[in-house]
Amino acid sequence: APAIEAEGLTKRYGATLAVDALSFTLPRGGTVGLLGGNGAGKSTTIAMLLGLLIPTGGRVRVLGHDMARDRFAALARANFSSPYIALPHRLSVAENLLVYAHLYDVPDAAGRIAELAAQLSLADLLDRPAGQLSAGQKTRVALAKSLINRPDLLLLDEPTASLDPDTADWVRSWLERYRQESGCAILLASHNMAEVERLCDHVLMLKTGRLVDSGSPAELLSRYGRDD
Ligand code: ADP
Ligand code: ADP
Repeated sequence: APAIEAEGLTKRYGATLAVDALSFTLPRGGTVGLLGGNGAGKSTTIAMLLGLLIPTGGRVRVLGHDMARDRFAALARANFSSPYIALPHRLSVAENLLVYAHLYDVPDAAGRIAELAAQLSLADLLDRPAGQLSAGQKTRVALAKSLINRPDLLLLDEPTASLDPDTADWVRSWLERYRQESGCAILLASHNMAEVERLCDHVLMLKTGRLVDSGSPAELLSRYGRDD
């Protein structure tokens, strides 16, 4: 089964149609960008894919599981990262990662944490309280947290939104390498065309909840140019 199959996915908040009959497929190992400005419906879509919001209409299967019936099976093999989710401040980096390792029943949690710490240059920070980290360090911890269960599907909501340009660039390079080496399917929500162009093989353009265009990054650039 594909990583994600959405059919007519719809979310209404009162009079606001936040996501309007969105259909798309994310193949296993593929990378799809959800490109759109504020209010386009990116976060609402991701929340429905995570089972955090119940759709008003439509259907979504994640890793072959229908989210309306079987969401825990889907979520065991998926994970999520967003700069807007805070890390518990008083817990050390290692303790933060251990919480998520237990949540996902990761075998050999200590070994997995050491491995991620090496990959994300966190080894010297493991004993530091999360509240004392810089934004770039927090981003690396958030990435480690989202990879703790070796997910088959990673949902990234604006992964570089709160970062300075150099750190944002580091994160994009890291993700570029990760997606090639891991074979993990990635859904990347972003308002940044350059980011989506670099990381995604297929792009869905959303505007006020509607899918207004889709194609490869090259196709969208040829239609809209670089300044969206
Ligand atoms: P159409 O709008 O003509 O129905 P498709 O949705 O079939 O277009 O896709 C057009 C091209 O994009 C095809 O080559 C298809 O394989 C590719 N494609 C579609 N969805 C994805 C995706 N999620 N990831 C990667 N490639 C995709
Ligand atoms: P994006 O992530 O692309 O910025 P969102 O999914 O956050 O877009 O929002 C889509 C639309 O839904 C916006 O019009 C937003 O104001 C509205 N919206 C989002 N969350 C809520 C909510 N909890 N209650 C009411 N309206 C909401």
